[in-house]
Amino acid sequence: PFEVLVIGGGPAGAAAAIYSARKGIRTGVAAERFGGQVLDTMDIENFISVSRTEGPKLASALEAHVKDYDVEIMNLQKAAKLIPAKSEGGYHEVVLENGASLKGRTIILSTGARWRQMGVPGEDEYRNKGVAYCPHCDGPLFKGKRVAVIGGGNSGVEAAIDLAGIVAHVTLIEYDSQLRADAVLQRKLASLPNVKIITSALTTKVDGNGERVTGLSYKDRNHGTEHDVELEGIFVQIGLVPNTEWLKDSIALSNRGEIEIDARGETSQPGIFAAGDCTTVPYKQIVIAMGAGSTAALSAFDYLIRLPAS
Ligand code: FAD
Repeated sequence: PFEVLVIGGGPAGAAAAIYSARKGIRTGVAAERFGGQVLDTMDIENFISVSRTEGPKLASALEAHVKDYDVEIMNLQKAAKLIPAKSEGGYHEVVLENGASLKGRTIILSTGARWRQMGVPGEDEYRNKGVAYCPHCDGPLFKGKRVAVIGGGNSGVEAAIDLAGIVAHVTLIEYDSQLRADAVLQRKLASLPNVKIITSALTTKVDGNGERVTGLSYKDRNHGTEHDVELEGIFVQIGLVPNTEWLKDSIALSNRGEIEIDARGETSQPGIFAAGDCTTVPYKQIVIAMGAGSTAALSAFDYLIRLPAS
């Protein structure tokens, strides 16, 4: 059994593992895919103190740094069930999809999230080649260009407002007959000169020249007509889904499925902590996930040293 068992090997899990191993306590990390979302990323320009790096490079640096310490890495292991300890200070159990089970006196959940995709032709082919999911990350790459934002909820409208200050023109495309974002955001959006809003529109295709995105096609849901828009970038903002389906019976989740944590990263169960994109933390970014993983590990250590000697 582990003193700290980390589930998830993205930036949050790697930081948690390093911080706890540095306390000299027995630490393990089980991850479905060590590296996490970073593996699907190309250019990273906001990893503070590093002007520019690439996802796969950062992912291997994460793994190398964890391996500097005595951490047991269990890659390609998917957790399927969490059974919290029956009594304070007892072992929590994580059952893996393959039937094996792991025990930890504390657990740090860092299973991340995934962006909901449109599921239209061209989306996969042009990911990182014009199709983007994170305006904070990739907005500046489209300076002076034309982009679309797909989705008129809060995140879509926030992204459109943000991007309008950087790019030449933003087309916001919403499936419904009206935007769903808060009224203040909608008013702000409507006041911007370089934004066009199209409602009742179903995106049907991402167009490209083999190298990069050149446009998109959508269907007008009222008239059934097809339209093309020429542009260089598409930001898909139709939801970020936390990888927490397996936890819904064991700890408190928000109505969006995010793990509820306090300022120390503790969940509703004593001795179980969480960090990164799978939690209620307001912004989902690499440096934020790393900070949260470190916080969770320090909190786990604080918890362990307060347990009565057994
Ligand atoms: P993740 O990176 O999602 O890692 C989750 C880990 O948990 C993975 O190892 C996964 O395999 C594992 N896991 C999931 N479910 C289970 C399970 N049931 N059992 C075991 N393991 C499980 N952020 C930036 O700051 N800058 C950028 O430029 C940037 N660009 C991005 C570009 C793209 C295309 C994407 C998708 C994201 C980008 N992000 C960027 C966001 C950033 O990648 C995330 O905020 C960050 O990776 C979150 O870290 P995390 O450790 O919380 O989760």
